[in-house]
Amino acid sequence: MSTWQALDERFVWHPYTQHGIAPRATPIVRGEGAYLVDADGNRLLDAISSWWVNLHGHAHPEIADAIAQQARSLEQVIFAGFTHEPAARLAAELVEVLPDGLERIFFSDDGSTAVEVAIKIAIQSWRNRGERRTLIAALDNAYHGDTFGAMSASAPSVFTEAFGDHLFQVARLPDPIEGDPLDALDRLIETRGGELAAVIVEPLLLAAGGMRMYGEDVLRGIRERTRAAGIPLIADEVATGFGRTGPMFACDRAGVAPDLVCMSKGVTGGFLPLGVTAATAELFETFRSPDRALTFFHGHSFTGNPLACAAARTSLRLLLDPACAKARVAIEAAHEDGLARVASHPMVTRPRLLGTIAAFDLEAGEGYLAPVGRELAAFARGEGVLLRPLGNVVYLIPPYCVTPDEIGGVYGVIERFLETR
Ligand code: PMP
Repeated sequence: MSTWQALDERFVWHPYTQHGIAPRATPIVRGEGAYLVDADGNRLLDAISSWWVNLHGHAHPEIADAIAQQARSLEQVIFAGFTHEPAARLAAELVEVLPDGLERIFFSDDGSTAVEVAIKIAIQSWRNRGERRTLIAALDNAYHGDTFGAMSASAPSVFTEAFGDHLFQVARLPDPIEGDPLDALDRLIETRGGELAAVIVEPLLLAAGGMRMYGEDVLRGIRERTRAAGIPLIADEVATGFGRTGPMFACDRAGVAPDLVCMSKGVTGGFLPLGVTAATAELFETFRSPDRALTFFHGHSFTGNPLACAAARTSLRLLLDPACAKARVAIEAAHEDGLARVASHPMVTRPRLLGTIAAFDLEAGEGYLAPVGRELAAFARGEGVLLRPLGNVVYLIPPYCVTPDEIGGVYGVIERFLETR
């Protein structure tokens, strides 16, 4: 073990890690396309895009160059009262690719803050119009992040249990896979419509809640009902944005234009943290006034960081290259083949696919703490593949530079693991 690994063990507190039993963290020294390289020179295929952030491959030279070039001219500037070209151009470029009507871009730091910002905009927008509306509706099995507002919108889980007393009350709509959120939303609007500040959803995919995929008709139904009732719809595209489900956004698959869209993860190609909340002009106008009290009093030290914006602009350009769309189609086809292979195993249930995201369940315990996921992760690690199942839910979210053969290889590793059971 090199000295710096000993320092990690002695001084670092890792996220989502039970230090009492976790295996030693794998030391990564380099990234190269779809691969990570560890301290011994072993290559690890990153089948989950390092927590779903990487789009075009690790250490992509064009994004790296864009960041380096930006760092030499302007690394950071206060974003209140000041601006810079990377942020202004990125905002315009995002508006160009976002669903219709989303015309204002608010920057923050990560997915959780993008969600906090959307919820705060929705609530304050009502207040600015002289109405007191504070109720948020969200789906069961949703996950929106780890800060308090985002945890409140998330479904109660082992992640939020310790903080339950401090979370705000949310009107919970059924997970579309288990119940009828449209009927529940109809009843909610009928009984408490005047209290509803916003409805927040992860469009088409309840991601961290178990890679649960639901139909476009449900998303359209939620949009129709919220629009008719004049209630803002927040689409949390943190996991689904930037091509993961095929088109640029999951909302595009359903032809839905929300009032607020939360983005992060892939926005910078996975190079730097950046949160983005897009809002309609209509919502923005409820804040624009000569009255300072109506200001959106929210911002972070690094809001609009020029390096992150430069990375995001380059990533977006790569994403808009037709070759990237072709690569995503090829990934989907490779998933189809792979899923068909593993689906024949008796332990595998509910194989499912949404663009470049594939998932299935293992009949071996249930929920995030089911050990089978960690066992598969350890097995795959030994075979040169990075997987991180959500308990008994196995998923692949690869970077777009992965080849169909490499995806086939990941399913091969999963098949070999299943043979050991
Ligand atoms: N929303 C969704 C849909 C997510 O999947 C995540 C992260 N997995 C978040 C929000 C929170 O993002 P972050 O981890 O960057 O705070």
